[in-house]
Amino acid sequence: PYTIEQVKALVREFPDFPSKGILFRDIFPIFRHPEAVECLVDHFVERIKALGQQVDVVVGLDARGFLFGPLIAIKLGVAFAPVRKRGKLPGEVVSVTYMKEYGPDVFEMQADALAAGQNVVIIDDLLATGGSCKAAEDLVAQLKGNVLLSAFVISLVGLEGDKKLKAPVYALIEC
Ligand code: IMP
Repeated sequence: PYTIEQVKALVREFPDFPSKGILFRDIFPIFRHPEAVECLVDHFVERIKALGQQVDVVVGLDARGFLFGPLIAIKLGVAFAPVRKRGKLPGEVVSVTYMKEYGPDVFEMQADALAAGQNVVIIDDLLATGGSCKAAEDLVAQLKGNVLLSAFVISLVGLEGDKKLKAPVYALIEC
C-alpha cells in the first residue's frame, strides 16, 4: 500500500511544456500504480467526509477531473457530473464564458446534472489562476447548487487562485 507522501512523490515536473516558460505538473505517474490511486482517492474522501456535511454530487472538470472525480463519487456513494468544454454535452446545458491564457473559453454542465439545493464538491488535478474552478462554481450556482469545497492534487499558491473562489479550497500539494 502507498502512503500519501509516496503518492505526492509520483507527481513530476516538465519544464517548457506545453510551451516555453511553463512548468507543467504531470499527475499521470500516479495512475501507473493502482494502490497509489486508491490512496489518493481515500485521502480526498476522508477530507470530504471531514466537512461533516452531506455531499450530493461530485463535479469533475474537463479533463483530468474525470480521472478521479468518479472514483471519489463511487466511494462516497454519490453522483458524478462532468463540466466540459463547449459542444460536448447533449441536451439542455448551462454555460459560462471564462478567460484562459490565450482568450475566452466556454464550460458547460447538463442542466439536469444537479437539483436546486444540492451540495457539491468540485475536483480537478491542478489549481492555477482559478479561472476554470471559478467558472465551475458559476455553473453550479446557475443550477442553484452549493459548492462545499474544491479539491485539487496541486495548487500553485503563488497565483492566488483560491482568492477568486467563493468556496474553500483543499490541495494535497501546495507549490
Ligand atoms: P486555472 O484555470 O488557471 O486555475 O488552470 C487550471 C486548469 O489548467 C486545470 O484544468 C488544469 O488541469 C490545467 N493546468 C494548468 N497548469 C497545469 C499543469 O501544470 N499541469 C496540469 N494541468 C494544468
